[in-house]
Amino acid sequence: MNTPSTRNHTSASLPNRWPWQRSLQARMIIAFGGAFLIILTILTFWLGRTVYNTYLDAAEHDLEVVAFLASNALEDPLSGYANEFAQYQQWEAERIRNAATQNVTHEGEQKEDKVNKDDDEDDEHDERPTPTLAPTPPPTPPPTPPSPAIVLPRLQGVADIYARDANARVTILDRNGHPVVDSLYPITLIAPQGAQPEVSTALRGDELSDIRPDAITGALTLFAAAPIQQGSEILGVVQLSQPMQLVAEKARNLVLTIIAAGVMAVLASTLLAVWISRQLVRPVLRLEQAALATAQGDLTQQVPVQTSDELGALAQAFNTMVGAVRTMLEQQRAFVAHASHELRTPLTNIKLRIEAVREMGDEAPDISARYLAEIESEADRLTRLANALLDLAHLESRPSAPPAHSVDLAPVLHNAAAIMQLRAQTAGVMMETTAPPTLPPVKVHPEQIEEAVLNLLDNAIKYTPAGGRVTLAASTTQDHLTVTVSDTGPGIPPDDLPYIFDRFYRVDKARSRARGAQNDMGSGAGLGLAIVKQLVEQNQGRITVESMLGQGTNFAVSFPLMA
Ligand code: ADP
Repeated sequence: MNTPSTRNHTSASLPNRWPWQRSLQARMIIAFGGAFLIILTILTFWLGRTVYNTYLDAAEHDLEVVAFLASNALEDPLSGYANEFAQYQQWEAERIRNAATQNVTHEGEQKEDKVNKDDDEDDEHDERPTPTLAPTPPPTPPPTPPSPAIVLPRLQGVADIYARDANARVTILDRNGHPVVDSLYPITLIAPQGAQPEVSTALRGDELSDIRPDAITGALTLFAAAPIQQGSEILGVVQLSQPMQLVAEKARNLVLTIIAAGVMAVLASTLLAVWISRQLVRPVLRLEQAALATAQGDLTQQVPVQTSDELGALAQAFNTMVGAVRTMLEQQRAFVAHASHELRTPLTNIKLRIEAVREMGDEAPDISARYLAEIESEADRLTRLANALLDLAHLESRPSAPPAHSVDLAPVLHNAAAIMQLRAQTAGVMMETTAPPTLPPVKVHPEQIEEAVLNLLDNAIKYTPAGGRVTLAASTTQDHLTVTVSDTGPGIPPDDLPYIFDRFYRVDKARSRARGAQNDMGSGAGLGLAIVKQLVEQNQGRITVESMLGQGTNFAVSFPLMA
């Protein structure tokens, strides 16, 4: 047994378009692993997107909350920062008013230089009495505006605190969107923010967040803003910003963890697939080896049946098949041995007699004539044997097609009885037929049934001693027609009964052969009943036998009646 080379030969002779078609295991691994990979890739993408969006939403919300808290701190009198922004606004308003006043004064100087010069001098030395004009009450000094040097650091402090809390950049803007303080950059670097969506929304009293590149760093940044309000008056805006990198980093860490878990799961599932497929493929490989060994003639091969699944059933079926093939082969061998034996005996007899006749020449014409008669008889026996073997081979190799029509077997039975009548008379056996003139129709090949009945009648007459009786009868039950051939012969011993339908089985060889030689039916080699059984079963019939030693034998052949 050369299993590997046979296996290679088998594999090579199969058309394999793809590498994995050569291995069931590879196909299973690819199927398992591929399915897991696709599922996990989709899952990872989906989870990654969800995680990123969740983180972004959370970051937007956090920024908006901090912007709201910072703006609240600036507008709530209890928070301690309440006055800072109001003071700044006041100072800013004052500065703008002063700048406007100086502008107006400057223009007046250009147009009415003299008068205005006098006025200026008066302003500068207002405690000096003016002789030409009536004394005017001193003007009320304007309230001292808070100094930016005090207010701005305090606002800066507010921005810094919230920037630290939120890990973000905080910019406080005035009601025009101009930067006042920034937690990260000098305000000279910061452009007016009034046009930015979150700032313009905050200036309308609402909150919004936005993602865009930062004007200073150019990096994609998340912005949120909240209005600083007193009553319905918008005093300014607190703007918070955080680089998207920070948001993405947190999400990325989680996504990376998910991807790592996914990769581990794919690896684990692939290993599992390898293990499962190996478990599944192992019995198939064992079966392949056993099948190849069987093909090479080893009919002792059996594979272990380890599971009760399809593979277990396949192994079981394989074992049954090998067993059946072994039995069939044994039967075939026995058949060939029997047939050879049956052929050899008459051939030997013929050869011996021919030699004797040749040696005697014309010396003993009587003995020569007897030998020639015996040679003829042996030749007849050989012919009968050859015919019986051919019949059997023919029946087994080419089972006849099921009959198309139903027939009445009564005429067939009467005809068979008529054929055997003379032989019965010659043997001194009384033969009677009790079959009615018509019988219910059955679907059979009539010529085959006639041959079977003739064989049974032949045996009955053959084995029944003179003075005995052979009866051919037919009866019907509700669903069966039964034909019986019974005799009052010696009967068949119970030990032999189970085997009389086997090929070459004879109860008494000498008697069988001797009786077979008496007529031209049956081989006398134990093939007659085997042929009868084949003929009956090919017509969906069933044959049974009952026998009592010393009393007789009864063969019954039954066929199903048409529904
Ligand atoms: P053969 O050609 O030797 O008769 P069969 O197959 O017809 O072979 O019969 C097998 C054996 O069954 C015979 O050898 C015979 O001993 C026994 N047998 C068959 N029919 C009868 C019968 N009617 N009465 C007694 N023995 C019978």
